[in-house]
This record gives sequence, C-alpha cells and structure tokens, in this order.
Amino acid sequence: MHELSITENILNITNQHAEKAGASRVTDIYLVIGKLSSIIDDSVQFYWDMISQGTLCEGAQLHFERIPARLACLDCGREYILEGDLSACPDCSSSRVSLIAGEEFYLDSIEVLKDQE
Ligand SMILES: [Zn+2]
Repeated sequence: MHELSITENILNITNQHAEKAGASRVTDIYLVIGKLSSIIDDSVQFYWDMISQGTLCEGAQLHFERIPARLACLDCGREYILEGDLSACPDCSSSRVSLIAGEEFYLDSIEVLKDQE
C-alpha cells in the first residue's frame, strides 16, 4: 500500500505544476527509481490509473527509469556501482561501505499540452 501514498504525491505535484503552467492536459511523466527501492512500477501504474481520473493527469503515460545503486568505500574512498548482492570494495576489499544512491524515487520531469489560443 506504500505505493498508493507515493502515487498520490506524484499526482499532487504534477497537477500543481501543470496548473501553474496553464496546461490543459499532462501527457508524459518521467520518474526515477533507485534500483534498491522497493517500489514496484506496476503498482504505481495501477494506482495512477485509478486516482488520476478526472484530473489533468488522466491518461498520462508514466515512464520509469531505474538507476543503479552506488556504493562508496569508507576506507579508500572508491565509489562503485553495485551489481547484484552487496559486495566488498573492489579496490581494497574493505566491507566498510556506505550506500550513496539507489533508494531514491522522484519525479524527474513532465510534459504537458496547452490550450490553443
Ligand atoms: Zn576500498
């Protein structure tokens, strides 16, 4: 159910931007999701179709971009992309690493149509 509140947030933000821009309709929404995020695209799409009805966003296409997880080694400072399971630093084999990207979820951009004048 976690996706429902997230989807509502996206809808609110998008509607606000669209209204400010004087849009008559939102056509495309670009979302960025970190690879380690637990958000499921299909669930977001499902809720989206349900709650966007009757708003400027009705019928808009959602685009999901998954970005890889990045780790930083706390011992040597090396940054690397996480492939699969959590792994030790490829340079010094230290296991003291911290996650610097991969759990994010945000609205990247939207595309709108405006009324002809
Ligand atoms: Zn290291």
